Amino acid sequence: MIIATNVTKRFGKLTALDNVSVNCNKGQCISLTGPNGSGKTTLIKCLLGMVVPDSGFITFNQQNILHHWQYRSRIGYMPQIGRYPENMTIAQVLDMMKDIRKNNKSVLDEELIQTFDLQHIANKKMRTLSGGTRQKVSAALAFLFNPDVLILDEPTAGLDPLSTELLKDKIRKEKQKGKLILITSHILSDLDDLVTEVIYMQDGQLRFHKSLEQLKQDTGQSQLSRAIAQVM
Ligand code: ADP
Repeated sequence: MIIATNVTKRFGKLTALDNVSVNCNKGQCISLTGPNGSGKTTLIKCLLGMVVPDSGFITFNQQNILHHWQYRSRIGYMPQIGRYPENMTIAQVLDMMKDIRKNNKSVLDEELIQTFDLQHIANKKMRTLSGGTRQKVSAALAFLFNPDVLILDEPTAGLDPLSTELLKDKIRKEKQKGKLILITSHILSDLDDLVTEVIYMQDGQLRFHKSLEQLKQDTGQSQLSRAIAQVM
């Protein structure tokens, strides 16, 4: 579905991505992991088309993403830190996004507000929200247009256990619908029962891309977090 081929990205003298190739398919839930500074966010931004590689290319359903005019609307993105108009309420932010992209299919925002348990605070202004609640707004926005691909950057960071479960339930349902889900997370214990594949990055290079089963077999560890700790 999304294929990156020999992607290299430099920032000055620093090579943030070094000849990275990756193949992501429908129905996969991929954990993109590795130490800080290993290139995960840069890879995500390249896959989103937000950062243009110095060399290599990325395709979505066989078409170069930079020439695919609808590409961005097919991807739901949950950033690590969402930036929103602070004087708007949660409901207004969701409405605004629907207005901006009114030609796109959108799922019911009311349903999303309930999915993420935001109904009681939908009229609260963004500037009054806690970090965890902002995360839930970011999650709702990522799902708003019923995207084919979800890219979630540290989605459970700052979420309380109940909200983490709400988000995991939603991710699980989307995975069952055959969507591609790519997640970076340091809190791997949260993802144990969702992940089907693991991509491990180090020093800008893709060290391996394995199924969770294979990784567990290779490391002899039954938990994702332990298996990753073994290879770090
Ligand atoms: P990770 O997400 O794995 O922590 P990043 O992709 O954020 O890693 O960063 C990879 C490397 O690229 C780091 O050394 C980081 O400092 C550098 N880097 C990332 N973005 C920029 C940028 N816009 N300008 C300069 N250096 C950057």
